[in-house]
Amino acid sequence: MIKKTLFKLIIPAILGYCIAYNATAAEIFGSYSKGCIKDAVAFPKESAYHQSLRSHNGRNYAHPDMVKYLNDLIAKVKAAGLPPILIGDISLKAGGDLGPNSDHASHNIGLDVDIPFVFAEPRKTPKELKNLKYIYLVNKNTLTKDFTYERAELIRLAASDAKVTRIFVSPLIKEGLCQFYAGQDRSWLSKVRPWFGHRAHMHVRLACPTDSPYCVNQDLPPEGDGCGQELISWFMPADINHPLPKVKRQRLKMPVQCKSILNRD
Ligand SMILES: [Zn+2]
Repeated sequence: MIKKTLFKLIIPAILGYCIAYNATAAEIFGSYSKGCIKDAVAFPKESAYHQSLRSHNGRNYAHPDMVKYLNDLIAKVKAAGLPPILIGDISLKAGGDLGPNSDHASHNIGLDVDIPFVFAEPRKTPKELKNLKYIYLVNKNTLTKDFTYERAELIRLAASDAKVTRIFVSPLIKEGLCQFYAGQDRSWLSKVRPWFGHRAHMHVRLACPTDSPYCVNQDLPPEGDGCGQELISWFMPADINHPLPKVKRQRLKMPVQCKSILNRD
């Protein structure tokens, strides 16, 4: 009798507690560009509808919110009839800087992900994944023929999740999206931010999870779709008579909690 109760009630209860505890064990300290993460989760190398570019070098670790976001996005992409997608850099297991050979300023806390504009169709070989032939949507000052309905929809679907705070793309891609979706609901475009580079991939950023009190959020982007003056300013020549004031970059410090977390892995 005692044995039966043990198997029927107590063991499942303990297992359930462990699973629930693990699901919320991840914790973030610091900001997107200076921080770390405890108990990040490895995002799967592949599924029927995605392939990961970075599982070979350990840059596929994410906060569980990011894992959910990507799984939801993959499901949305499939439901919309778009081809399977590639997932690029997320974070290292303990977070922190991605290393000297990386040109990323962020990706420190498992809440940033790069999604290339190359679809995983045809399916890529391991060699192709390591040396991906990127598709550029911008060449010099124009959009290329690769700025297609499918890629515009991929960006729209990526932005259509409450957890997303920003998606960085080249200013010309943002302009292309503003025109493409003219006359339609463009509220999601407020999250799509013009930024240097980002011609061959988009960079998605999620908000800090509520159960990570030491995670430092970025200010919210301005309201509106950002298709007006703000976007135009990216294409204006610099005014040599009135140079822009130099912005003093805040020197962020690595949170003390990160010392042991970053040394552990
Ligand atoms: Zn990035």
